[in-house]
Amino acid sequence: MLTEQEALARILEKVSVLSSRRVPLSHALLHRAARPVLATVALPGFDNSAMDGYAVRAAETLTKRPLKVIAEQAAGKDLVLALPSECAIRIFTGAPMPRGADAVIMQEDVQLVEGSSIVCIEPVEAEENVRFTGCDLFVGQKMIDEGDLLTPAKLAVLATQGLTEIEVISSPKIAIVSTGDELVMAGRPLDSGQIYNSNAVMLEALVKQHANAKVTLAHYPDDLTTITEGLRQLTCSHDFVLLSGGVSVGDHDCVKPALAALGIKPEFWRVKIKPGKPLLFAQAGRCQIFGLPGNPVSAFVTYQVFVRPALAKATGASESSIQSATVAVTLSQNLKNTGDRPHYLRGKVIAGVFTQLGSQQSHALFGLSQGNALLRLEAEEERNAGEVLEALIY
Ligand code: AMP
Ligand code: MG
Repeated sequence: MLTEQEALARILEKVSVLSSRRVPLSHALLHRAARPVLATVALPGFDNSAMDGYAVRAAETLTKRPLKVIAEQAAGKDLVLALPSECAIRIFTGAPMPRGADAVIMQEDVQLVEGSSIVCIEPVEAEENVRFTGCDLFVGQKMIDEGDLLTPAKLAVLATQGLTEIEVISSPKIAIVSTGDELVMAGRPLDSGQIYNSNAVMLEALVKQHANAKVTLAHYPDDLTTITEGLRQLTCSHDFVLLSGGVSVGDHDCVKPALAALGIKPEFWRVKIKPGKPLLFAQAGRCQIFGLPGNPVSAFVTYQVFVRPALAKATGASESSIQSATVAVTLSQNLKNTGDRPHYLRGKVIAGVFTQLGSQQSHALFGLSQGNALLRLEAEEERNAGEVLEALIY
């Protein structure tokens, strides 16, 4: 049986980066940039006021001599004003600085006196409340790197450049296939012995959360012919097929026999991990096939540990960000893994402190839903309260 590290290495060896295409910024969320983007517009693009107040010469605010307000500059059209000495110009946030002014005094720090003049109660220093050209981003600066995940903040900085499109790695086409005679789709009544299909909803949400995937959903009963035919079609038209259930060795587990019928040899089956031991990985042409265990927590954990990095690679993540990030957490309690496989414990991290949650069994979805972190303990590992370990936040 492979270790987690061996299994992940095998997967990543097989996965290659999908093609790139140009998309409107409004469609680019959670895609990864296919190439770096350099700034063509500085931020700010011109010296401007950070406050509503008065553009002044800072040195002239040291005395209490009135400064005559001679003009007004609002945000928008640049009136190309110049500031004579012993004067002030009314100015608003985002408005271009008049020539000759070197600071903005906040309106709260002046007193209006008769004849439209101001007296400065608190002096300002030179450059105070002024946002200088290019101090955030200069022309030619790299604003987006190849492989960057396009988050709302990244999209916003692209928008400052007036860009309408960006070249990204294409969305992966992912088929999510649940298997099992006991599964019922939402909206239908449950008979005795049946359960609702939760893995399909969970896996669809996960791949959309991490990779802006194009998802096809399918459900097959535990029937070899149906699963074989379904897989034959799905593997031709998708980058990834994520099966759940039917991957063990029970009489009703048809995934392996279906792959065999299609002449697809698994790269591996079973990994030293708990939960999630029966994980299967295979490749059919350019399609990556994951047979995830049916138990919901096992499917979740194997998704996080194996599928998520594979998707990250396919969608253009840089080498250093392929593996899911972890954070340092302090244990609130003693923890022990008595088993012979690494164990991913579900728990909750609050203010950097990890506490294990409820049942740790592989079907216990409620516990998973109450938590936000997976903490890995090595086989036979024992840790004490107060120790610091890495946790994967979900
Ligand atoms: P299997 O791997 O097919 O033996 O399934 C293991 C367990 O996971 C069984 O209790 C199944 O009923 C359950 N299971 C399988 N698929 C799903 C699913 N899509 N949603 C919820 N539970 C599932
Ligand atoms: Mg099953």
